[in-house]
Amino acid sequence: MELSEFPQSIRPYIIPEITGQLEYRCLGCQKKHSIESLLYTCPDCGGVLLLHDLEEKKKMKRSGKLWRRIFDYRRMTTIPALQGIFLFHEFIAPVIPLEHILYLGEGHTPLVEANRILQERIGMTFLFKNEGQNPSASFKDRGMACALSYLNYMISKNKMKNVLAICASTGDTSASAALYASYLGEKVRSAVLLPRGKVTPQQLSQPLGSGATVLEIPGVFDDCMKVVEYLADHYPVALLNSKNAWRILGQESYSFEVAQALDYHLEDTVLLVPIGNAGNITAIISGFLKLFRYGMISSLPKIIGVQSHHANPVYRYYLEPRPGKRTFEPMQVRSSVAQAAMIGNPVSMPRVIEMVEQYNQTAGKQKVFVVEVTEQAIMEHMLLANRNGHIACTQGGESLAGLVKALAEKKVSAKERAILNATAHAIKFSGFQEMYFQNSFPPEFGIRPKKGLQNRPVSAGLIKGGTAMTKKSITPKEYNVFVEKTALKVTKLLGI
Ligand SMILES: *Cc1c(COP(=O)(O)O)cnc(C)c1O
Ligand SMILES: [Zn+2]
Repeated sequence: MELSEFPQSIRPYIIPEITGQLEYRCLGCQKKHSIESLLYTCPDCGGVLLLHDLEEKKKMKRSGKLWRRIFDYRRMTTIPALQGIFLFHEFIAPVIPLEHILYLGEGHTPLVEANRILQERIGMTFLFKNEGQNPSASFKDRGMACALSYLNYMISKNKMKNVLAICASTGDTSASAALYASYLGEKVRSAVLLPRGKVTPQQLSQPLGSGATVLEIPGVFDDCMKVVEYLADHYPVALLNSKNAWRILGQESYSFEVAQALDYHLEDTVLLVPIGNAGNITAIISGFLKLFRYGMISSLPKIIGVQSHHANPVYRYYLEPRPGKRTFEPMQVRSSVAQAAMIGNPVSMPRVIEMVEQYNQTAGKQKVFVVEVTEQAIMEHMLLANRNGHIACTQGGESLAGLVKALAEKKVSAKERAILNATAHAIKFSGFQEMYFQNSFPPEFGIRPKKGLQNRPVSAGLIKGGTAMTKKSITPKEYNVFVEKTALKVTKLLGI
């Protein structure tokens, strides 16, 4: 819709004002740092950073109701920069002018309600938010759209040049980073470090296709992360891991979208989120807190983080109920089908600790929980979901397995409504489905496939005359014989 067509009362707000008041804040020493240089960790103490908006107070002069109207009406504009996560420009990175924003189709992923059969089986109302419908087929695009838009802006201001963007990844971060960097052409070169053999072939194909330099490192993700951090500390590279606070800001859009899609009524709503490096749960918590501060929502939804028993450092941390007694211990991970979350030393752990505390305090009671699920449960719930019309990846299966666990542990009641994060598209992780169907899981996963959930192609070609197709030249008569015989075989196989 054209600007002139909007109601007079909302027109002045449709195109966001560009303002320049963000700063980094260190979660370690609490120091503040300017955003004029790109920081990943605190130059003083090495702590992780979050970005804060200094103009929040000023923006809060607008009522929550007005903000809701702004974002709801803004969905009708056709301005490309405002189509994706930057629909919520004022809440994400208000310093970035629209002309520097990258929009590759990220955000506004659908909420798909599970069918009746599946809801009855699980025992409550639930919906998947299909993050696999982002351009690189995972939620990572939300953060990358923000981080690369900021880089693009810095480059335009001549604050940075000859940028080498670099990241370590369990697969999806590199796919997304390489995609967004490639859109910027010569302005940004990109390199990704991957744990050899620990990303799926589909994920590996993505940065290769985007033209990134792909470096394989022996080890697991945590090892790649250490190498990348060393590089970021000693060389002029732009780190695109979730240490990069701009990514967290972009990923907050998930919460804004959930709230908007539910008309901002979040009472009795619970969100399930798989946890790996813990950037996503940080962003989701932070996003809802923002909406609450602005008066756009009147209650904070419950948030349940989910981890596999093979990579569960966050779960272990919260097993201790007394906050003062908790200590964080990095762990050695074991093989997991939720490979994108197979992380033993999450870089955003200090952010999680801070955000969970703030969230529970604001809510006046515990509203964030972490549950643990088995590898077996993850696989089975992914397969179950996808047999009922979903496109969940293994981590999406983890969300559903986590819901079942949370129900059993009474952390969720059947009267609530659950929003499950299907963090990537099923086809990125089809290798695990294949292993389940072919009974070929290496023993370390500890997964025993169940016949009823397996599915394999059935040959419908082993018939005499069927070989006609392989001949160099076949007569029309021979071809007809082939078609009829094969069709007959198919009718037998399908019982028609
Ligand atoms: C990155 C990723 C996760 C984990 O998210 P964190 O922010 O690292 O906790 C989960 N699922 C998929 C598909 C991912 O790519
Ligand atoms: Zn510090």
